[in-house]
Amino acid sequence: MKKNIFNTSAAKITKVYALLLLGITVILSSVIISVVGLKQFQVQRHEALGIVRGLKRSFIANRNDWYWWRMGSSMDTDTTFVRISVAQQGKKQRYLYSPNAKAFLATKDQGSVTHLTANTHYATKTGLFYHVRASDLSTNKADPSVRYDIWVKLNGLTALLWLLIRLILLIALVFLIIGTWFIYLLARKLNRPLVELTGTTKVINQDISNNYKRQLPVPDSPQEVHDLTVAFNQLLKSLSDQEQADRRFVSNASHELKTPIATIRGYVSLVDRRGDAHPEVIPTALKYIDQESERMQRLVESLLKLSRANRLELKTTAVDLSAVVQATATHYSDVMTRPIRTKIQPQVTAQAHQDSIEQILISLLNNAQKYSPAETPITVSLTADDQTVTLAIADQGIGVPDDQKKLIFGRFYRASSVRNSVAGNGLGLAIVQQLVTLSHGQIVVRDNQPQGSVFMVTLPR
Ligand code: ADP
Repeated sequence: MKKNIFNTSAAKITKVYALLLLGITVILSSVIISVVGLKQFQVQRHEALGIVRGLKRSFIANRNDWYWWRMGSSMDTDTTFVRISVAQQGKKQRYLYSPNAKAFLATKDQGSVTHLTANTHYATKTGLFYHVRASDLSTNKADPSVRYDIWVKLNGLTALLWLLIRLILLIALVFLIIGTWFIYLLARKLNRPLVELTGTTKVINQDISNNYKRQLPVPDSPQEVHDLTVAFNQLLKSLSDQEQADRRFVSNASHELKTPIATIRGYVSLVDRRGDAHPEVIPTALKYIDQESERMQRLVESLLKLSRANRLELKTTAVDLSAVVQATATHYSDVMTRPIRTKIQPQVTAQAHQDSIEQILISLLNNAQKYSPAETPITVSLTADDQTVTLAIADQGIGVPDDQKKLIFGRFYRASSVRNSVAGNGLGLAIVQQLVTLSHGQIVVRDNQPQGSVFMVTLPR
């Protein structure tokens, strides 16, 4: 698997690199070969023309200067061949040849000759050669009865060009090998953390229940993979936290449901066993069964509310909060056993979700009543400034100790002091907090003076 990833990326990069190298080699060799070839070709041409000039200067028809010239010339007679034809009046044309020239011409004429340019030709027997005639020269002031032909073999030039091509190919090959090796090493270095990341992710996928707790080793480099791994670890951490919270929630919920179910089953069994002989147990059993099933119903309703609140997307409208809070407080003062006082700033409006505001207020009023002695007043106040609206519900009850001020908003949390004395399931404040968060607000609990607590909900306007 590891090898495959390395190979895939390394192969892709190598392919691009090889293509690039090929392109550069082709361009570079064309340029070098053209420049060197042209330069060499010019040198050869220059030499050939030089020979013609030398010949013209020294040659006079019918004199022996040709032999003097031949003796004094530094011309390479193996690669350069000269033929001079002298036209004599009334006589046959006379030819003078430099050494090897005759043999060269004979060999050349045995095969076919291809004309590449006006002066450059390729003969199958002798190879590439350059041919110049005296008439090609612009400074042709010599005797017109004398004609000069010079052939210069370009074998040296061809050999040089071949050597150059081979050299360039060799260098390209060396670069290809070194480059490929370097790419492989680099790809491996860059890919290793990604391969590890992929491997661990697969392990996590295979065993989700245990592996959210795993953290990936964070590589120092490359920076992008480092950042990716850190982000991935954060994701794992929050998934792990969430998973633990979910487990706790399910276990708490089952525990809360277990108690009333056990009670109900206990009374059903009692009636079953003793109902006939002792019918007096039936009303008591029914009372408890009713009580416990009601408790279960409340719990299930709360769970549903919480689950709904988790998925809820609140559609806000302009709400006259002063009116809503006043109406709810008035309505509840009729059914509550504690007097409700209101201090409501008039005409406070905000973009809000009316149902949620009512639910929050009702929940906090219920708690205020549950956790305060009879007849102590509950105060509902609403104040606002330019930015925020604050809804406060103050009671004079048992209060919340400092170390529990945050905990009470957790699901199923109940203070130990109330666990056995006051009915409840510990979900009310969790639902309230969820609704406040969905409304982009905040909720805190403070101490009331001289006693009790104040729950303050701050919402944006
Ligand atoms: P429940 O009231 O069903 O226990 P809540 O989530 O509404 O669940 O409250 C969680 C805990 O917070 C309560 O058990 C109680 O200990 C504490 N609490 C809530 N409201 C008040 C209050 N007004 N005064 C004192 N304690 C409170």
